Parts: sequence; structure tokens; C-alpha cells
Amino acid sequence: MKAAGDRVFYKDEKQVYRVSELERFAWLELGFGTRLSEGWPPEPAVRLRQIHSTICLCADDAAGFEGTGDALISNTPGRYLSVRTADCIPILMMDERCKAIAAVHAGWRGAADGIVARTVDALAARYSSRPEDLWVAIGPGICGRCYTVGAQVASRFQAWFPDRTDLDRTTTIDLAEANRRQLEAAGVPECRICMGAPCTSCHNAELEFYSHRRSGGKPGRMISAVGIRA
Ligand SMILES: [Zn+2]
Repeated sequence: MKAAGDRVFYKDEKQVYRVSELERFAWLELGFGTRLSEGWPPEPAVRLRQIHSTICLCADDAAGFEGTGDALISNTPGRYLSVRTADCIPILMMDERCKAIAAVHAGWRGAADGIVARTVDALAARYSSRPEDLWVAIGPGICGRCYTVGAQVASRFQAWFPDRTDLDRTTTIDLAEANRRQLEAAGVPECRICMGAPCTSCHNAELEFYSHRRSGGKPGRMISAVGIRA
């Protein structure tokens, strides 16, 4: 099977990155906001207090819900799940068969602890989703060339990069690829995982992204959101 490819992400007139592979799903609203986005995210948007955990919350139960965690799932139309990121990886999912959705904030801790697999499990538990029916878009975040980490962080990724012998020292980690491998291991077909979003650090000539590392930790964040149109 072929990967979904490198040209699936494009920026629309609202300065929101869209995924062309997923546009045939008319019921789906899905986009990755930039620093320049206007009128984004759609409202009402569910927002999390993000803590770099693997906590996945269900947003169906309360309007204006604001919980603590790093992933959201829902199947309620007209409600948008959002996550905020700067260099961490935003990941949006949808189940084509059950019309369920998820939004994930995956920094290195979330990626090391397997938050995407937890989210696939949560979709299965709540909506009887099957991994083979999911589509997943891995959005703009720091790339594998830019993301330099120390040995303590790098060593947490040995299971996902078993061939690498440099994870016991300062090196680089590709968080998008780590998440892609976790999704495949969880049963999501490779051809349904959309990759190739720009790097928030090195593909940032127009300063369209907030970058935690480039800005020295200033607090701006991009908003990524997914919803079922009402
Ligand atoms: Zn980069």
C-alpha cells in the first residue's frame, strides 16, 4: 500500500491548511490553523487544558466542555474538537464508517506514551470504530531534522525506531514518523495516514507558524480543529 503522499496539504484563503485527500467527505470540517488564520476554528469549539498526558476525553456529554487532557473524541454534529500546538504535532482523525472524530495534541511525551494509539482505542470503545476505517492527518509540527533532543527524550523512542543506535545521546527525533508508526501498529492502514505537512520551524519563511523553539518559548499557538458539519 502506498502512503497518502506529500502533496495532500495545502493552505486555503482562510490561511488554514487543508487535506485534499479528505475533501470528498462533505460532512467533515478539518483543518490546521496557522498564525495568520482568520475565522478559525469554527464555533462552538471544544478546547482542552493540555498537559502532555495521554488522557483522551469524550466531548459529547457537555456543551462548552473544557477538560484537562490531550485528546478529544466525539460524534456530535456541529461541535468542533480543537487542540493547540506550536512545535508539537497536531493530529486529526475521523472514522469514515461511524462518522466519529478525534483531535490529538502529541508532543514528545504524548508520542513516547502512545497517545494516538490510546485515541484509536477510545474511538473503538465509544463508537465501535475500526482502525481500518479511520483517516488520520498529521499536521504541521517540528520536523525530524529540526527536533533535537537529549538522551533522556531520545531513548524513549527506541521502540519506534528499533534500528537507530544514536538514541542514547543528543540527536534528532521525527515525531510525525513516530506517530505514524504507532498508528500503523494500531491497525490504521498506511494509505489512510496523511503526512507531509510543513515544519513549524524550518518551513516558516512567511512566519505563518508559531514555533516554540524558534521563538524562545513565547506562548503563541496554532489551533487545529475537526468537526462533523451540522
Ligand atoms: Zn524543520
